[in-house]
Amino acid sequence: MDQRLLPEAVKRYLRAGYALVGRHSAVEVCRWTRSALKGGYMCYKRWYGVRSHRCIQMTPVLNFCNFACTFCWRPHLEGRFEIPSDWTWDNPSEIIEGSVYAQRRLLAGFKGNSQTPKELFLEAMFPRHVAISLDGEPALYPRLSELISEVKARGMTAFLVTNGSVPYRLEELLRKGVEPTNLYVSVYAPNPDVFAKTANPLTPKAWDLVMESLDLLPEFSSRTILRFTMVKGLNMTDPEGYAKLVERSQPKFVELKGYTWVGESQKRLPITAMPTLAEIEDFARRISEVTGYNLKLSDAKSRVVMLVRDEDTWLWNLKLVEEQRLLEASLDSEWKAKLRDFRLKNHGKPPIPVLI
Ligand code: SF4
Repeated sequence: MDQRLLPEAVKRYLRAGYALVGRHSAVEVCRWTRSALKGGYMCYKRWYGVRSHRCIQMTPVLNFCNFACTFCWRPHLEGRFEIPSDWTWDNPSEIIEGSVYAQRRLLAGFKGNSQTPKELFLEAMFPRHVAISLDGEPALYPRLSELISEVKARGMTAFLVTNGSVPYRLEELLRKGVEPTNLYVSVYAPNPDVFAKTANPLTPKAWDLVMESLDLLPEFSSRTILRFTMVKGLNMTDPEGYAKLVERSQPKFVELKGYTWVGESQKRLPITAMPTLAEIEDFARRISEVTGYNLKLSDAKSRVVMLVRDEDTWLWNLKLVEEQRLLEASLDSEWKAKLRDFRLKNHGKPPIPVLI
């Protein structure tokens, strides 16, 4: 038996706009992808070269999470953590193929949207970024290293967001030499007591496991980011404690992201738990004073503040962005050439974007 998603859960995900891929993966169009497709604002990850209209937000572990974070917009489901012993995992290439296909289906409606330039729509049909962050804990997926390889083999960037509770999966990535383009470790508190209240871990020794993951970060050559989700009245305390985590793991970047009062979290937290950008910047400044990291950028729309280890790291980041652009241009030239040929052969009739 491997049908774990109960009918009501499936309905809830479909109502939320998810497209289900295989037995345990899903795609949902990010709000910034929609915004970018209408010529609007792109997400703050543009700092790392993401062009939001070409980004797939997906998960290979729908409904599998080993934390029950107080600030999470998702419902905390009973038994959400137990992975059935006879569970069958889909293979990585099918998940990525299925995710690209699902993204195209979900975005098809923008083709006729007068606010969407045709060029942007066509580019969106050829995604260049995969954010492995939609739902659940991705490191629970046993073939994560292959999944990341599949993404990168298609010339796409792979952003992995983990809560750090599965350090052996990160060790496996290092051992196999498969690094995500961006490795995010979300750390929900400056110390074990606040962590227990904030993350409500469903797995034993979770704090120790997260610390093990932090100790692995210096070994990664790709972009490593510690992400702190700031919730006033809960974990927005003890900046020195957060600074110690930064000094311990030496990430290339630190992001402080303001909690947003949405979804199921509204039943657990007051709206006043949302910090302002100014409050987040103040908190970031105190971490910067202790660690020596530079307060580099802020994004008001997402209420995010970035600290960077030093100026060399920032210049290195810009070089990576440039390299990604060059790769995208060469990959895009392929489908653009096919498009031109198709139009020439078909006297301008619009093609069906099946080229990948
Ligand atoms: S990187 Fe994240 S926020 Fe940006 S478009 Fe992709 S899923 Fe959305």
